[in-house]
Amino acid sequence: MITKKISIALLLSATFTGSLLPPAITAQSKATSPVAPRREQVEAVVKEAYEKFKGDTSGKNADYIPYLAQVDSKMFGIAIVTTDNQVLTMGDVDYSFSIQSISKVFTLALAMDELGADAVFKKIGSEPTGRAFNSPIAVVDMPSHTGNAFVNAGAIATTSLISGANEDEKWNKILEFYGKAAGDKLKLIDEVYKSEAATNTGNKALSYLLAKYDRIYADPFESVDVYTKQCSVGVNAVQLARMGATLANNGINPATGEQVIKPENIPHILSAMAMAGLYDGSGGWAWKVGLPAKSGVGGGIVAIAPGKGAIAVFAPPLDEAGNSVKAQEVIDYVSEKLNYNLFSPSSVSLK
Ligand code: GLN
Repeated sequence: MITKKISIALLLSATFTGSLLPPAITAQSKATSPVAPRREQVEAVVKEAYEKFKGDTSGKNADYIPYLAQVDSKMFGIAIVTTDNQVLTMGDVDYSFSIQSISKVFTLALAMDELGADAVFKKIGSEPTGRAFNSPIAVVDMPSHTGNAFVNAGAIATTSLISGANEDEKWNKILEFYGKAAGDKLKLIDEVYKSEAATNTGNKALSYLLAKYDRIYADPFESVDVYTKQCSVGVNAVQLARMGATLANNGINPATGEQVIKPENIPHILSAMAMAGLYDGSGGWAWKVGLPAKSGVGGGIVAIAPGKGAIAVFAPPLDEAGNSVKAQEVIDYVSEKLNYNLFSPSSVSLK
């Protein structure tokens, strides 16, 4: 028993040290990867999930943004990036899709970096709305009006917190920050931006409604425009998984070794993801999967196993709440098999 305890402690400390060291050194810690005992096992589970769910045709591409309706709904990609920078992929992982609402996580991180967690909490809040992500009723009903940083209203307000002399400066700061988390230069998908900017009257209405309650912190329409751009950033599944792994790795990008997000903000960000990352599907997700995650109407979901890594799945058809059907299925399957559930006492140790 004692031996067992010691060996687990050793493994954990090796893992912890490994995740904090630059890539050249972390490569040596592969034997103690926190994602699973052996890489082949993870690969097998990912492959199983891919085969099991690839034929599922349920759900529907988002169509309120015209561009998204035309994206090939059969595309399906899975990527895992661990805190010691191992990368596992399956399927369509090179295609750049729009990050959409998953961007909200990283704008929240940037706002907290600039203003501190307490100030952001006061200005935005972190309560689930229990309503659709674009609900104006939630803005009227919620005592904070903003609700949380992941529904559209709260997200636009979070974007409005980012400092800059003008709109371009704010936008470029956001884009660069996302790139640091992804470990790659990211770009706007211009067609997505144009398509969304031409149809985002609902978001403009939300932003103007927030102004009524003094809960938008820059020009309401400028803030919607920056927000629309951030949603139109292109990422592939690997880049998205790496952004997630940066969160899992206490804010340090496991590929570049750069401290991108302040470590003290990570628990706040992950708790917000657990509360509202899948909108009004968040309770069911926590019940079933038990991992902080964030979805986007572009078809991506990224889920975080703190200290271990992140899994990103891209598959465009969405359920009623606006969450990718196959992405939910895959993450549920993989995290169950690999024992990732945060609420399970056994998930804290390596199997
Ligand atoms: N850009 C989208 C919107 O504002 C983001 C929504 C989402 O991904 N859930 O509606």
